[in-house]
Amino acid sequence: MRCPVCNKPAHTRTSRYITQTMKEAYYQCQNIACSCTFKTVESLEKIISAPVSEPSMAEKKS
Ligand SMILES: [Zn+2]
Repeated sequence: MRCPVCNKPAHTRTSRYITQTMKEAYYQCQNIACSCTFKTVESLEKIISAPVSEPSMAEKKS
């Protein structure tokens, strides 16, 4: 994600899942003269291709 202020690359500081398909992340701009911090929300838009048989929860964790 690029900084919305100076358009330089920003690094993720921390992120957490809000729901199973939605994640928020906090970013800090790598441009030391800017140092903007901002938050984004990433969410699932569409499943393009789902498995024919859904894997069990045990398989997902391994
Ligand atoms: Zn910046």
